[in-house]
Amino acid sequence: MTDPKKIMMARKKLLQAGKIASKALAFTCGLVKPSASLLDIVEAGETKIKELGAQPAFPINISMNHHAAHYTPSQEDDTTVPERALVKVDLGAHIDGYIADNALTVLVGNDEKLQTLVKAAEAGLQAAIHTIRAGLRVWNVSKAISEAMRKLKTRPIENLTGHSIEMFNLHAGISVPAVARSSERFASPRLKDHMVVAIEPFATYSQNPRVENLEPGHIFGFARSRNPGNAKLRSLFSQMKVKFAQLPFASRWMAELIPTDQISLTLNRLRKEGCIHNYPLLGLRDRSFIAQAEHTVIVERNGCIVTTKRHKK
Ligand code: MN
Ligand code: MN
Repeated sequence: MTDPKKIMMARKKLLQAGKIASKALAFTCGLVKPSASLLDIVEAGETKIKELGAQPAFPINISMNHHAAHYTPSQEDDTTVPERALVKVDLGAHIDGYIADNALTVLVGNDEKLQTLVKAAEAGLQAAIHTIRAGLRVWNVSKAISEAMRKLKTRPIENLTGHSIEMFNLHAGISVPAVARSSERFASPRLKDHMVVAIEPFATYSQNPRVENLEPGHIFGFARSRNPGNAKLRSLFSQMKVKFAQLPFASRWMAELIPTDQISLTLNRLRKEGCIHNYPLLGLRDRSFIAQAEHTVIVERNGCIVTTKRHKK
């Protein structure tokens, strides 16, 4: 993108989306308290995004303890926040496809070791933000993240990464790992002026800090080129594409289109036909706890702008 007018317009919407994502995140995190229902929390947070003038870029993820990402409650989920937990709230908002992605970890109950995990994720994120500038290789950002996290005697999750963002595309191609392998140093891509990047380190004490697919989740994504064979299903599918703007969606959001007792069956059919795919719940097999922190930034020549700067609700 080189047209200065287009760059200005994109920047304005990115900053607007960022402000809303940040406010909605603060609001949602404020609802995380012992015995609060996860379903109530995410629904209130998603309503907040809309009230503030944006749309969710994906269902709010509320992943607890050893779950790293992709937990969103189903319509029937009656899970509540326990007395002691690490609750990661990951929230995205978009305005006309300009996406802001941010996350925070709420520590429920007092626990010094868990507090350190929260600090480590935040320290990794801040180290990245202070390092990022156009022309630099992603490897250098990864190195800054992992060093900041190791200083607090924590380890980064090795197979979860930050990512570049483009219009209506949350994971646009470039990955930003939280570990810097020397073999990847000179193969790693360079950051470019105006590039939008989400940085999201995850901290843990696990000896094997790699997440695995634990079980199917309640978040789905579109497989763009496929359409269902059945005419009725095809019509529903085109409604879904419009309604969810081809971005990831929650099974519970389907209640706006079909009766709730048909949701699972319908999503299963669409999945079997290859029209949608499921995002499995990601977590650590050894059940070690995980903390996460995330911001979206716009890369500039001499640094970066954080679009999701923390706001009070
Ligand atoms: Mn996120
Ligand atoms: Mn992200």
